Amino acid sequence: MARFDTRGIVLCPDDLTWADWPRRAAEAGLNTIGLHLIGNEGLAKLCELIQGSAGQRFLADAAEHGLAVEYELHAMHDLLPRELFTEAPELFRVDDSGARVPEWNLCPSSADALRVVSDNAVRLAGALRPTTHRYFMWADDGCPWCRCAACRQLTPSDQNLVVMNAIAVALRRLDPHARLAALAYDNTLKAPRSVRPEPNVFLEYAPIRRDSSRPLNDPSCEENRRHAELIDPLLEVFGTEGAQVLEYWMDVSRFSGWRRPAVRLPLDSVVLEADLAFYAEKGFRHATSFGCYIDAEYVRRHGIPPVAEYGAALSR
Ligand SMILES: [Zn+2]
Repeated sequence: MARFDTRGIVLCPDDLTWADWPRRAAEAGLNTIGLHLIGNEGLAKLCELIQGSAGQRFLADAAEHGLAVEYELHAMHDLLPRELFTEAPELFRVDDSGARVPEWNLCPSSADALRVVSDNAVRLAGALRPTTHRYFMWADDGCPWCRCAACRQLTPSDQNLVVMNAIAVALRRLDPHARLAALAYDNTLKAPRSVRPEPNVFLEYAPIRRDSSRPLNDPSCEENRRHAELIDPLLEVFGTEGAQVLEYWMDVSRFSGWRRPAVRLPLDSVVLEADLAFYAEKGFRHATSFGCYIDAEYVRRHGIPPVAEYGAALSR
């Protein structure tokens, strides 16, 4: 039996120009493709793609190869439409200077904001329906949280979990089996302190600032040690049930500094194997990696990427 139930790759719409993705992923032993938009791009782009012929062809290909499809998205800027700021500024975030501002995230202490976000999350879930009942509607990418008098007591991880709890409850209206990720990443990498997850919220751990040239549990790597130490406290809050690692092993976009042209993927099989053993030992049963910038242009430039090696490592 494979040590991971989810063996995934997370791609951007442009990566689907390499039409071989579903077949290569399935042949490699992967079983899940996540679709993602880099940064805080509007989600309409992905909804249009999925509803169009290219998206429908991709979904059919994925199904034919037995692959699950999920959507992993920075969604908050769309879930709280920014146009609402003029009529209802109290739904929005307070910045460090004490001013309500329309940019990024929301005020989690506003019941109205949570209601708007939850209603729109249910709508988004209807448009982008994962085949796994696992939903990913993250906070805005690398963006600050609220500093109002009520929110100031809460860490970014707590504020994020307040919002995810509200969405997780609402999603059950659409999908009784819905589960929602709470993303531990960037300013929410640390465990929440004063908020506890709803039963259908699971941990997703994405160590974007790790050193990918060394194993995460390499004690001589200061950066990785700091990241690895956060895992036990996170699992104490969220438990291991459903817990997912979202890694960067295959992420050409990150190795390229999010600038094209894409570099050749430096997949390090020693690091990958050590990381997988470490995550499995911690109790993670779901593992995926970004694979952004692996598209038709990548294959023309660098040849076939090491999807088979990656899939084989996850399937062992
Ligand atoms: Zn607030």
